[in-house]
Amino acid sequence: MARQFLGKEVNAALNARIKDNVAALKEKGVNPTLCIIRVGENPSDLSYEKGATKRCETLGVACEKILLPVEVTQDELLAVIDKVNKDDSIHGVLLFRPLPRHLNQAVIENALAPEKDVDCMTDLSMSGVITGKKVGFPPCTPQAVMEILDHYEINCTSKDIVVIGASTVVGRPLANMLVRRDATVTICHILTKDVPAATRQADIIIVAAGHAGLLRENYVKPGQIVIDVGINVNKEGKICGDVEYEEVEPIVDAITPVPGGVGGVTTSVLVGHVVEAAQRATE
Ligand code: NAD
Repeated sequence: MARQFLGKEVNAALNARIKDNVAALKEKGVNPTLCIIRVGENPSDLSYEKGATKRCETLGVACEKILLPVEVTQDELLAVIDKVNKDDSIHGVLLFRPLPRHLNQAVIENALAPEKDVDCMTDLSMSGVITGKKVGFPPCTPQAVMEILDHYEINCTSKDIVVIGASTVVGRPLANMLVRRDATVTICHILTKDVPAATRQADIIIVAAGHAGLLRENYVKPGQIVIDVGINVNKEGKICGDVEYEEVEPIVDAITPVPGGVGGVTTSVLVGHVVEAAQRATE
């Protein structure tokens, strides 16, 4: 039976650190504040917003919201971003994406001040993921995976790690963060010739494909660690990951469940970034 890497265990340690930092900031008269900008009513945005709002509340971080209609114009949205950039009381900004198609997403993303870019929306923040320079922040989900590996003291040095998924939000930045930890990383994607052949050679498999039941018993071998980033809804309407849990769990050494794994840690990482942005602003 595999060891479970649980989001709640990681969060207990992470949230304790965040709370200490919030208390220290409040002693200096700084009230760390996240601003959520949401365009429209996308259900997955609403669900993430609910989680982030609750986590902010629990950790003593203020959360402001700017809700815009789906027909908002490019100029109106840029004006909102300019306003939050100039507002010293706001330390971090979360803008849900993808944006409606009439908006130029690349222009809007890069309009945000990098010091407030708590989820790696700007090109400058992404460059920091590759170089390790502290410009902006890494994206929250890949950082949540790193928090889980660190919490369970998994040393990445010289490990063979396969990341399934090559998106700019999860797979690619995560692969770069792992390379910076001296892992040997293979990225697989939808056009990879033989994904199971790659994963069976790995020490650690991280799957972020958005494909329920993708990782099955023929993808794994004993001794491996499996981190499941996927969030899908199965035929019964329940949340599930990308791993066929019942098949994989009996074989591997450690695994993250869905729900109960990466997802909840992502929200804590976001709030942690807001607190760090507030710390940097006071330095
Ligand atoms: P995406 O659709 O942008 O990218 C998916 C990637 O997986 C692509 O590179 C694609 O080529 C690859 N892929 C898809 N099917 C594949 C297959 N059968 N074999 C190999 N590669 C395959 O998705 P994303 O935004 O990167 O999100 C990936 C998953 O992670 C989704 O389930 C999403 O809901 C989840 N997610 C979770 C969190 C969290 O906090 N846990 C945050 C963001 C995304």
